[in-house]
Amino acid sequence: MSATLRIALPKGRLYQPAVARFAGAGIRMDPDPGRRLLLPSSDSTIEFLVVKPADVAVYVESGAADLGVTGTDVLRETDADVLEPLELGFGDCRLVVAGPAGGRWPDLPGGRTARVATKYPRLTWKHFAERGHPVEVIAVHGSVEVAPLLGLSHWIVDLVDTGNTLRANGLVERETVMRVGAVLIANRASQKLKLDQHLALMQRLEQATG
Ligand code: AMP
Repeated sequence: MSATLRIALPKGRLYQPAVARFAGAGIRMDPDPGRRLLLPSSDSTIEFLVVKPADVAVYVESGAADLGVTGTDVLRETDADVLEPLELGFGDCRLVVAGPAGGRWPDLPGGRTARVATKYPRLTWKHFAERGHPVEVIAVHGSVEVAPLLGLSHWIVDLVDTGNTLRANGLVERETVMRVGAVLIANRASQKLKLDQHLALMQRLEQATG
């Protein structure tokens, strides 16, 4: 089998654990990509593409990459039409609603509509809509935890791991929106066309200790 599998990896938190998992599966690459976006590996049939976390699912859905590693938070937010053949067991955290400690929840004084700042506008809107709780969603790209302090929003929806960032900004968790973890995703057509390669890779990753 000579066809090459291109695997999209996200820069940031999930990058090193993903590199470690592939290394455990015998697929090694330079752990420091520098400015290179396409990286060869020790397996001549596999190459890696290093992109922003939000773009992994876009590359895989379009077929520009055969497979990818992504968090289920960005995957559900983009709602990409891809296969999810494997949970990878790292990057575990939670997407939560949080608000100022001592602030009113779930209703605001005077029955006002809450403003919610988040990097996940789609998931936030869906979460509150499912509860019949109308909110105004404010999409931001970072530093979400500061939004209530500055009066931009009443609440936030963001990822929590240890809870240290929430505490440091005087916020407490109110509700869990979803549990989050890293998954391997696959392009539908690629999996059909290169089924043997996909299955072999899956088996190696499942057996890898990370
Ligand atoms: P913590 O202080 O450990 O609760 O981490 C919270 C901060 O880290 C927030 O700014 C989150 O957006 C970010 N964060 C936590 N877990 C993850 C993850 N698995 N992937 C990306 N960002 C994360």
